[in-house]
Amino acid sequence: MMAKQEEEEEEGSSPNEAIFFVLAYLPVFELLSMARVCTSLRDAVKNDRLAWLRMVVDRPLNRRVSDDRLVEVASMAEGRLQALVLINCLNITDDGLFTLIHHNPLITKLHIPGCTSLSAGGVVRAVQLLTKDNHRLRSLKISGIYGVRREDLQTLRGLVEHNVTRQERGKMLYHHHNKIESDDDPCIDVDICPKCNDVRMVFDCPRHLCECRGCDSCIVRCIECGVCIKVIDQEAEAAACADALCLTCWLKLPKCNFCNKPYCSLHANHQYILLDSPGFICATCHSKFN
Ligand SMILES: [Zn+2]
Ligand SMILES: [Zn+2]
Ligand SMILES: [Zn+2]
Ligand SMILES: [Zn+2]
Ligand SMILES: [Zn+2]
Repeated sequence: MMAKQEEEEEEGSSPNEAIFFVLAYLPVFELLSMARVCTSLRDAVKNDRLAWLRMVVDRPLNRRVSDDRLVEVASMAEGRLQALVLINCLNITDDGLFTLIHHNPLITKLHIPGCTSLSAGGVVRAVQLLTKDNHRLRSLKISGIYGVRREDLQTLRGLVEHNVTRQERGKMLYHHHNKIESDDDPCIDVDICPKCNDVRMVFDCPRHLCECRGCDSCIVRCIECGVCIKVIDQEAEAAACADALCLTCWLKLPKCNFCNKPYCSLHANHQYILLDSPGFICATCHSKFN
C-alpha cells in the first residue's frame, strides 16, 4: 500500500480523501486555479511533492494566464519543478519566465511552444540560467516563438546539447501524434529548414528514401501519416477540415454523408452524429441544412 501514514490514521474522517487521492493525476495549475478558495485542497496540493515535479498550462487557461498568476502559482513549487510546459500561453513575457526559472533552476524540460510574447533573447537568457553550473536542461521546445535567428539556435544548441549524453537527434515526424511527448523527440524542436533557411520545425518524410525534409511552409504534408504531398502532380485530397490528406489516408477515413469529405483524426470531434442513420454530417453541411 502506498497510503501515507497520516491518511491511514485519519481514515474515514476526511470528506476530501477521494479528492486528495486524485491529486496526483490532475495538472497542478488547473487544480489550484479551481481550488483557490478551498484552503485544505490548496494545502494538500502544496504539500504533494510529486505533483510539483511538472507544471503544465494548456487550454483553456493558456490564453488568460498572466505573468503574475503564473509566478504566484509556481512559487508553491518551492524550487521543485523539473518540467515546465506552457502551451500557447500568449501573455507570458520574458520577465515572467525568467522569474519562474530563477526560482526553479532544476528544470530539465522547458516546453514553451507558441508563447508568442516571449522573445528569442528571453529564451536564450532562460536557457543560459538552466544550463549553467550543475543545472541540467535537456529538452527545449520553442516552435512558434518569433524572431529566433540561426545564431540564436546555434547558441541554444551549444547550451542544451552539452547536457545530452545521447547525441543522436530523434526524427521529427509530422502528424498529430507529435503533440504527445516522446522520449525520442530531438532535444530542441526547431532546426534550420534546408529549403527556406528559417528556424522552424523541420520534418522528415516517412516515405522510404524521400528526401523532402523541410518545414511546413515549404512542404505540404498529410496530417495523418506525414508523407509529402507534391502539389504539382498530386493534389491534396479534400478534407472537411483545413488539413491536407494523402489519398491513402483519405480513403480510410469516414466521410460526411452529404459532401463525402472526411475529417482528420484530430478534428473528428467536429462531426455531427446522426441519430437515425449511420455516419455523420460535417460542420459546413450541418450549418447549410439547419
Ligand atoms: Zn522551410
Ligand atoms: Zn496520409
Ligand atoms: Zn517526402
Ligand atoms: Zn459535409
Ligand atoms: Zn483536421
